[in-house]
Amino acid sequence: MDFATPDHLRPRLDAAAALLTRLEPLEHQAIAQGFYAVQPQLDAIRQELKGSSLWLPQIPTASGGQGLSVLEHGLLTEVLGASPLGHYVANCQAPDAGNMEVLLEYGTDDHKSRFLQPLLAGDTRSCFGMTEPGRAGSNPVWLETTARLEGEEWVLDGRKWFTTAADGAAFCIVMAVTDPDAPPHQRASMIIVPTDTPGYTRTRNIPIMGEEGDGWMSHSEVAFDGARVPQANLLGTRGAGFSIAQARLGPGRIHHCMRWIGICRRALGMMATRAASRMLTPHESLGEKQAVAHWIAECSAEIEAARLLVLDAAWSIDDIGAKAARQKISMIKFFASDVLMRVIDRAIQVHGALGITDDTVLSWFYRHERGSRIYDGPDEVHKSVVARRILKEARQS
Ligand SMILES: Cc1cc2nc3c(=O)[nH]c(=O)nc-3n(C[C@H](O)[C@H](O)[C@H](O)COP(=O)(O)OP(=O)(O)OC[C@H]3O[C@@H](n4cnc5c(N)ncnc54)[C@H](O)[C@@H]3O)c2cc1C
Repeated sequence: MDFATPDHLRPRLDAAAALLTRLEPLEHQAIAQGFYAVQPQLDAIRQELKGSSLWLPQIPTASGGQGLSVLEHGLLTEVLGASPLGHYVANCQAPDAGNMEVLLEYGTDDHKSRFLQPLLAGDTRSCFGMTEPGRAGSNPVWLETTARLEGEEWVLDGRKWFTTAADGAAFCIVMAVTDPDAPPHQRASMIIVPTDTPGYTRTRNIPIMGEEGDGWMSHSEVAFDGARVPQANLLGTRGAGFSIAQARLGPGRIHHCMRWIGICRRALGMMATRAASRMLTPHESLGEKQAVAHWIAECSAEIEAARLLVLDAAWSIDDIGAKAARQKISMIKFFASDVLMRVIDRAIQVHGALGITDDTVLSWFYRHERGSRIYDGPDEVHKSVVARRILKEARQS
């Protein structure tokens, strides 16, 4: 296993780093005024990037992407992830990236031309509706939303929430129970619901620690009240919703974790710059205080450890596949999110009162990345999964 950055990737990483300097002023505007305020400028950058080495890095070349391996995409994601807007301009943002992968793998030719192609072209956005207000999202096989077949149409009823980027999305891939009497893992299916379908309503954008957000930078509650879509909008086979969701999450966790490492590195850089320049007296900077110096050292070591763990998981997915690498995938989820939270918190502390203002990007990361310990499976669930496998082996030995 070799984690040295491959030479062929270096120009791409340099291009991504240069892109981030262009995004910085837009970040401030997006944080202050919302996503729609900066979307025209972001979409202009997207037009420039189309066809470049940064566009659709995770998508195979045959479909117009860069065909990067999971490890290579992880390294690029780390650079892009240092800005809240990096993934959007390269068209590899959640939840669209996962939806693209699902449509590529399970979509029919019709799904691909109607739903996938506009996504790949960056002309539309999409969302993914699985979690519900009335049921614990940690148990993904226990859902209330139903889809029943009437003639040649699915009729959907139920509510979803935390549907990221539903505001402005063209369609939602919905997990709904189609076979309530089947074994738990075969009860739900994935169905594509265009957002202009009568009976589909985006009820509200849910405020996150006081910020409602808009467009791609928001999370919505959505309702299905007898929403009818053609039978052909089923993705994959009937009852395969859970297994498709599992396939969607494996490489997706690498993308999230490497994005978090990118955020950590940026926060550490900000912490160090502030500690070196903020003077406590004319002769002593903050960084000369042992507590602050130790935070910098600890953050640096924790980020490096998390980074190597994530790269190892990415390398394992490329080498042995996501299923065989699932123990490592679960480990990085809780380890990296924990490091992320600690690094952001320490960076804010070193910035003092400035750290909790919106004058730096740290407060945005603090608000919006707190969810990292909850989404893609809460940390506690992953810890239980990891421990269960270790204990099973111990019992068998
Ligand atoms: C920023 C963000 C974006 C999201 N985007 C989407 C999206 O686009 N689409 C979508 O469908 N969902 C999305 N979600 C929802 C996310 O998938 C769920 O929040 C997650 O699955 C947890 O479900 P829950 O919130 O219902 O928590 P619950 O299941 O109610 O769990 C609450 C808490 O209980 C603890 N817990 C749960 N299970 C266990 C266990 N087995 N052992 C020990 N402790 C446990 C954990 O601490 C957990 O945080 C998003 C969430 C966030 C925060």
